Amino acid sequence: MNFQIFFQKMKMDIDKITGFCKEKGFLFPSSHIYGGLKGVFDYGPLGTQLKQNILQQYWNYFLIPHDNIVSQDGSIMLNEKVLEASGHVKNFNDPVAISTKGERMRADHLLEEHFPNMKAETMSYAELLAFMQETDIRIGNDRVAFVEEANLMFSTKTFNGPKCYLRPETCQNIFVNAKLVADLSRLTLPFGICQHGKVFRNEISPQNFVFRCREFEQLELEFFFNPSLVLEPKVAHFEIACSFANGENRLIQLEELIDRVHFWHLHWMRQMLVWLTQHIGLTREKLRLREHHPDELSHYSSATFDVEYLYPIGQESSFKELCGLANRGDYDVSQHAKYSSKNLKFKCPQTGDKLYPHVIELSIGMERLFLAVICDAYEFNMERDYEVLHLKESLSPIEYAIFPLPSKNHEKQLFLDCALDIQSRLKLKHKHTFYETTGSIGKRYARQDSRGTKWCITVDDMTLECRSITIRDRDDKSQRRINIDDFFNEL
Ligand code: ATP
Repeated sequence: MNFQIFFQKMKMDIDKITGFCKEKGFLFPSSHIYGGLKGVFDYGPLGTQLKQNILQQYWNYFLIPHDNIVSQDGSIMLNEKVLEASGHVKNFNDPVAISTKGERMRADHLLEEHFPNMKAETMSYAELLAFMQETDIRIGNDRVAFVEEANLMFSTKTFNGPKCYLRPETCQNIFVNAKLVADLSRLTLPFGICQHGKVFRNEISPQNFVFRCREFEQLELEFFFNPSLVLEPKVAHFEIACSFANGENRLIQLEELIDRVHFWHLHWMRQMLVWLTQHIGLTREKLRLREHHPDELSHYSSATFDVEYLYPIGQESSFKELCGLANRGDYDVSQHAKYSSKNLKFKCPQTGDKLYPHVIELSIGMERLFLAVICDAYEFNMERDYEVLHLKESLSPIEYAIFPLPSKNHEKQLFLDCALDIQSRLKLKHKHTFYETTGSIGKRYARQDSRGTKWCITVDDMTLECRSITIRDRDDKSQRRINIDDFFNEL
């Protein structure tokens, strides 16, 4: 039997992944000893490190190689004027369905649960209510009585100061600061600013583990450019499934989209897809692009494609948004210029024009990415009879586990000292390590396999006699013997 295919067919659902993450200490509900807080989570030791590794891959790919991309770390609390200018105070709303008993659920999602092929996002609130009443969709046992608008932002107030909001997306700090940051960094168009941080949305129905939370993190890159400059429209091949706004679904070569989207939009779409597949290790067949229907576009966007991942959510797994790739036009900077009465125009070095730059946004939620990474790496291995987490080596929270295997041939302390010495040398190389002396070697391997540890090192008789260790690979269990000094030279 081909085990590989058999494993892939094993049913994995969101509850299994939730339990797995909690049990291994990746992620669990916040305030859990008091019953938790819906839509809010804490990262445990392994989760914190995995998140940190994902973030490092992000900086390595989107920031470090580019002379014209810089980072910033903006505040979470924003003056209400920022969000009035951006349109969030008026437009950052979702439809809430309210039952005859006052229970609330997000109306478009409720409808799509019953009619998965309907595009509820494109329906008006009156249409949503009429349809739900006609088809007798219920919240629990109760009929839907109203569909209302709910703003998703958390507001608060400072002493004697203005009303403020917890930011619902990281990018508004970037738009407010764009001119200042560009001047400080001596950047001219085209350039980018990226940022990572917490955001808050008072989601009506947080659900599906961390897929929809109320507190989460975003990694956003805003790329500013002059749209009137004609660029050589060259984009390297990348094959990916695509769901078009007209309902067509097919495999495309990315460069086919050059007539539909701006060159920079397509360029960054490709960069994101390459990063997700080659640097984060997501399976290409579990990703697809989805074009937003014109009725569904956000108030600022002229074209948006989402990258969707095949999450194990619902009866069957379903493609759901992992990240958004939007052409925001000049909406944001021009709005902030208008509301603040500040000069936020940029001079294009090629044409000399003064303009509000256009922006391509790459917006990815850390929790949705984290969830995709775990789902993609998770396997219940029938042969080993336990869970194995096939994380990419660069993402593994623990890179090396070190196990002394004392025998009667030598004093026990010699094995322990040798293993601890190897661990210290790995730590000096900034490697994440784990040292364990107890339990059978099989149990020790199993614990590390399920935590995603890529390499297990054993220290045995031969280590003491001829300075060689064994290194075991998590994925295929293969072992090789290597001299300790050669091993460190290879690192
Ligand atoms: P959705 O349609 O699923 O509500 P959205 O289109 O409102 O998402 P964006 O505003 O485009 O999401 O946010 C950018 C990214 O932030 C999303 O692609 C997603 O990865 C992440 N994100 C958005 N809302 C949530 C949430 N409630 N919980 C976790 N991640 C989220």
